[in-house]
Amino acid sequence: MRRLAVALLVVLACGLCHALTFSNAYLSPRNRERARRDSTQFIILHTTEGEAKPSLRKLSKNGEAHYCVDRNGKVYRIVDRSRVAYHCGVSMWRGRRNLDDVSIGIEVVGYHDRALTAKQYAALRDLILELQQIYGIKDANVMPHAQVAYGTPNRWHPRSHRGRKRCGMGYATPSVRNLLGLKERWLSDPDVKARRLVVGDDYLAQVLYAKNGDKLLPYKLPGAAGAKPAEVATGPRTYVIQKGQTAWDIARDAYNAASTTYIFPSGTSLTGDKIKNWEVLVAGTKVILGDADAAGSPLQTLAKGAHPRNLIGEAVYSPNTWYIRPTGGSIQGSKLNAKTLAAMPPGTQILVGYARGGPVTSQRLPSQICPTQWDAPDTFYLIPGKTLQPSGDIDMRRVPPGTLVFYRN
Ligand SMILES: [Zn+2]
Repeated sequence: MRRLAVALLVVLACGLCHALTFSNAYLSPRNRERARRDSTQFIILHTTEGEAKPSLRKLSKNGEAHYCVDRNGKVYRIVDRSRVAYHCGVSMWRGRRNLDDVSIGIEVVGYHDRALTAKQYAALRDLILELQQIYGIKDANVMPHAQVAYGTPNRWHPRSHRGRKRCGMGYATPSVRNLLGLKERWLSDPDVKARRLVVGDDYLAQVLYAKNGDKLLPYKLPGAAGAKPAEVATGPRTYVIQKGQTAWDIARDAYNAASTTYIFPSGTSLTGDKIKNWEVLVAGTKVILGDADAAGSPLQTLAKGAHPRNLIGEAVYSPNTWYIRPTGGSIQGSKLNAKTLAAMPPGTQILVGYARGGPVTSQRLPSQICPTQWDAPDTFYLIPGKTLQPSGDIDMRRVPPGTLVFYRN
């Protein structure tokens, strides 16, 4: 009798979870060293902006998501759902920053401007429902990455702005939410309303909040009238800069990333990290966005003859802005005046939206200085006498005493 009851339970349970197949093939080696989250308030949905294999490898290597949904609906576990994964980057919602500390991140193999497969929508729907039930997350707080990411001031935006990237923007629209079984959604941006941020991407704001945002999507959903299989096509996308457009309009914050390639009308090409002068990008320049749902480097370098204000706008005097001289040594923005600011030498590295921790001693390791971000890909280390290096380039077993740690705040 008992055996029968157990068998019945198994059948019932599988009836609920039939669509979800989990794989641990890409479980992150970072998993065990990650802090556990105290609270889970959001589910953040992403598009990998790259194909399955390279995306899964990168997500796993850096521990950048909790789950990844492949085109066939298969769900890969990357980081244990109770631990912190680095998927949001610079982010804010209702004044709360660093949403990685309070959210679960789901990557879906695909692109923000192409439809996902029917199997992906179905698997995502089941996965979201299961996580909502475990953590008590309401529908409105299941949001696309684009909705919570924000950009710090850059050469095109003097203020912090919503619209750093368009990752997963379609997840906010009524038609996609319907496919995902989500009812409520946010009807306006609370951080723009409270003037913590300005709108940096009008089109994105329309997709996220307009009643007919789904009509503005550049694709049709699978099964919709007129949908073409080509709309879930693969491979990197090429865009052409139109007159009056900037590199930021095309690549957003990945404009200066090594994964973004520019092909000039002359035929020569450069990657984003090699371009110094952004004012001369002419119409007709082709832009190839590489794989990876990644922001460009938050690290900016002062070119010869440039003023920091051209790079980071109103953030020049912020206490969260740090200047690292080419000879080493760091200065906080709030410690500068007009004269010392203008005298910053070329080659100075600049970080916006960061806190400084340390120094590292034999008693005080990086993991004690910033427990949740010490190995985040956008955490930087300043070893005495050197310039900033990303955490991934540092041998964590041998961090010299006196090293300072710069982490997002
Ligand atoms: Zn994303």
